[in-house]
Amino acid sequence: MVTAAAVLLPALAGPAFAASKPLRLDDFLGGPPRLRGRLHAAKVPLPRPRPAEAPQTVPDNAKAPAEAEKTAEPAEPKTPEPSACRLALTEDIAIAPSIPDIHGPGGCGGEDLVRLEAIVLADKHRVAVTPPATLRCKMASEIADWVRTDVVRLTAALGSEPSVLDNFDSYECRGFNRIAGAHLSEHGRANALDVRAIKLANGKSIELTDRTVPRDLRESFLHSVCARFMTVLGPGSDWYHEEHIHLDLMERRNNYKICQWNIWDPLPKIAPMTPVARPDEAPERKANSE
Ligand SMILES: [Zn+2]
Repeated sequence: MVTAAAVLLPALAGPAFAASKPLRLDDFLGGPPRLRGRLHAAKVPLPRPRPAEAPQTVPDNAKAPAEAEKTAEPAEPKTPEPSACRLALTEDIAIAPSIPDIHGPGGCGGEDLVRLEAIVLADKHRVAVTPPATLRCKMASEIADWVRTDVVRLTAALGSEPSVLDNFDSYECRGFNRIAGAHLSEHGRANALDVRAIKLANGKSIELTDRTVPRDLRESFLHSVCARFMTVLGPGSDWYHEEHIHLDLMERRNNYKICQWNIWDPLPKIAPMTPVARPDEAPERKANSE
């Protein structure tokens, strides 16, 4: 109201006053002359909404955004420097080409991603990851190291070496245990791998959760993964992991780890009708696993 009255003053006071007018309607409204004419005709200074075409800045400042834009404009899209992990994960260790970052809904995705296709052993033999796993570089690197050292050692004791790592699931944008609305699974962050089996060069296969696989071998695998990964979930952790082992590198406060994988005793092929003497080499029986 005050502004409108002040603006109108010079116009109403006549040409003499108007000649030295310090303010012009156009300064404020930037409008065409007809706008002033209309106000004359009305004779009543009515507050008007600011017209949409009114300039947002005074002319002196109008140049600034254009200049700022010019200087802020990046010369060219920059490619990020390869991470230390990326540089270390050479083709002597794994066939794991980099893939573009994923920025999915609900925090899904990640950066520094690779497609882990195979792990290269010290003897240059390759352990195929089937299907190839989409993982953060650090997770892929840990998997590669696990296979190259622990899995090679454990399978060498069986007289063979690994040839295929069975990828049950890697990157997938989903909630924990596929429960809608649950907190984001590490799978959604490309930070997890589910493994069911490791196939050997001699044609055999180690199903990690198979009760018929020698118990001490399964225990050795358990110890190897729980020493490396931040989360290990297997049989006995919940009903979602009875047939595969979940591995991830979730970061928790104080580096807190979760290792939940119960090694079940083999199921008897035929339920004995009478109690039989346990052999000396039988593993200790646990009250809750009977
Ligand atoms: Zn999993």
